[in-house]
Amino acid sequence: MSTLSERDQKHLWHPLTQHKLHANHIPITKAEGALLYDDQGKAYIDGIASWYTCMYGHCNPHIIKKVTAQLSKLDQVVFSGFTHEPAIEMSEALMRILPDNQQKLFFSDNGSTAVDVAIKMALQYHFNQGNKRSKIIALEQAFHGDTFGAMSVSGLSVYNGPFEDFLLQVDRIEVPTQTNFEQVKTRFEKLLKTGEVAAFIFEPLVQGAAAMNMYEASLLDELIAMARKHQVLCIADEVMTGFGKTGKNFASEYLKNSPDILCLSKSLTGGLVPMALTSCTQAIFDAFYDDALGKGFFHGHTYSANPLGCTAVLAGIELLTSVEMQANIQRIAQQHRAFEKKIKTHPKVKATRHLGVIFALDMAVAMERYGSLRDELFHFFMDRGVCLRPLGNTLYILPPFVISDAQLQKTYQVIEAALERFGN
Ligand SMILES: *Cc1c(COP(=O)(O)O)cnc(C)c1O
Repeated sequence: MSTLSERDQKHLWHPLTQHKLHANHIPITKAEGALLYDDQGKAYIDGIASWYTCMYGHCNPHIIKKVTAQLSKLDQVVFSGFTHEPAIEMSEALMRILPDNQQKLFFSDNGSTAVDVAIKMALQYHFNQGNKRSKIIALEQAFHGDTFGAMSVSGLSVYNGPFEDFLLQVDRIEVPTQTNFEQVKTRFEKLLKTGEVAAFIFEPLVQGAAAMNMYEASLLDELIAMARKHQVLCIADEVMTGFGKTGKNFASEYLKNSPDILCLSKSLTGGLVPMALTSCTQAIFDAFYDDALGKGFFHGHTYSANPLGCTAVLAGIELLTSVEMQANIQRIAQQHRAFEKKIKTHPKVKATRHLGVIFALDMAVAMERYGSLRDELFHFFMDRGVCLRPLGNTLYILPPFVISDAQLQKTYQVIEAALERFGN
């Protein structure tokens, strides 16, 4: 009998993987709370909540109970021409926590499609009003997903090389800092003045794939205000930041100027099934509302508003807004602060940052070590029963809200051990 890992290699092609360099994939057979278990029964603390999805814990009993009940009632129905209670209830619950200016919800299946929908909405919003605007402004080092539209606005070019000739027209500005803000504003204003810009897209406050790069809400607020003056729609890609990770339900809540469009996915269903939403203002919806069929939004995915997904979203919102989960978020944020205070003066630590349940640390390490170091660190952590996926020289934690104090302390300890073992 061959092992699961051997059988995996026969037919499966894994995401973001060079199979010649990384042939082995660890079989996971079970998950519960903050823990993953492999086929040998070994437990790992899921320090990144399986890519920011299972924030209420794996196999959360509340979500399972609700989805199980839904499972024997209505599994799937076309969402054009039909509707159902799970979608309606979910929309009402979500509207209670989204920024006040959000009014309409459009379904798709993943973060990339949520971004593609947002871009198409923005382009057609102008088109429907007789203004053909063909450009999007995005931030340097952004990550918005892997479909063509999302890839176009992403600024991490390692992924995009072979496709560069086929992308949308995108202008880029630097991520604003106190130091570069005047130059950023000058360039931004120049781009806005061309009248060609349909939308400005950004990951609010935290750029996940850019090693959890964080920037100030007040600077983003100013950029949004500038964009508004030129009727440029502002798209907050909250696929990573949404649902409590920054300490508030949405990172956009740190802003005075609410974005026109929000993209949601990842922990939308608490990790149960893939689903995504693009939310927008009434004004955007109204630009599509017309007697002319062609002014409608002709975009649709087969599994739009899948009733099981919608049920999971509703259960997830109930968990997120519970006193217990909000206390968990504050508890984790507080422990991150204490750990940061302790570790930031360590000689092998170059920089630290945290927001909500997100904590990141840059190791002081020579540039040429980045590639191999990532793998060595990953195995170092896995050997010690903690699942963390370093990005370059950055170690970061984004645990499920239900992680226990002991599990969180163990995660900090393996990071401290890694600092002793690796680095300059
Ligand atoms: C993960 C991510 C995406 C892409 O989502 P997928 O579901 O992987 O397509 C888009 N934007 C951000 C900010 C993300 O973190």
